[in-house]
Amino acid sequence: MGIAEGKRALIVGVANDKSLAWAIAQELKAQGAEIALTYQGEILEKRVRPLAEQIGAKIVGELDVTSDAQIESTFSNLKGLWGGLDMMVHAIAFADREDLRDRFLNVNRTNFARAMEISAYSLVAMARAAEPLMEARGGGSIVTLTYLGAVRAIPNYNVMGVAKAALEACVRYLALDLGPKNIRVNALSAAPARTLASSAIRDYHTMAHEVEERSPLRRAMKPEEAGKMATALLSDMAGGVTGQTVYVDMGYSIVGA
Ligand code: NAP
Repeated sequence: MGIAEGKRALIVGVANDKSLAWAIAQELKAQGAEIALTYQGEILEKRVRPLAEQIGAKIVGELDVTSDAQIESTFSNLKGLWGGLDMMVHAIAFADREDLRDRFLNVNRTNFARAMEISAYSLVAMARAAEPLMEARGGGSIVTLTYLGAVRAIPNYNVMGVAKAALEACVRYLALDLGPKNIRVNALSAAPARTLASSAIRDYHTMAHEVEERSPLRRAMKPEEAGKMATALLSDMAGGVTGQTVYVDMGYSIVGA
């Protein structure tokens, strides 16, 4: 029996088959969960629907996290579908491409606010919407995805690092608020992986190469390793773990110069 048997999971952030959210979806499915996905913009027919079909997932709506109305309708669709929710994966981030190169110092007010809204505040809004559905199931577990740039100044990661620092702080405060309802909240800090989002970062290859060269395990992360750890954190295997940032980075973050 899989560790997610009988569980119902919402996964937000599948853009294509390279998305870390897709690796998580596949592992959750393999471990027995029923999956619901959302989509953004026009990628539904081309990319998300064929993937959803592969794992028998339901599509519960269009969700641009800057829209409170779309957050409300997604969770109302979920309530209609399942009546409750056990697991939620938040795997979304956005920063303007021009801010993922050169100097952090140059980010403007609008772009700073937008990166924070989409990459950090959205977790708060989604956790608030998920709370009654998880309560209806006696508790739940939420996982978001973050990166080492939250705690180290990594060239070109810039405003996204600031947003990830906020995201990791949100995880701790949400864990405090939701713990009494038996809802756990954790972040998985992944090593660089080639995806649509990471392709916007200038010199992404240098970040990735560093992990292969200098991490204790001397290799890149396999996306399925993020999928497995996220699934473990979401499941009862991690029943005593909340408010944490767990690194799936081949040990890179422990290494000094
Ligand atoms: P990805 O496949 O491009 O996924 C990013 C997702 O964010 C996409 O599905 C994108 O949807 C969604 N998104 C952006 N703006 C949104 C909005 N306003 N509303 C709803 N969804 C929105 O890239 P990924 O690398 O797997 O990223 C997933 C998460 O992992 C992100 O939080 C990222 O920071 C984190 N992470 C990635 C790496 C890495 O190296 N790849 C490492 C550590 C952490 P659209 O494509 O439709 O806009």
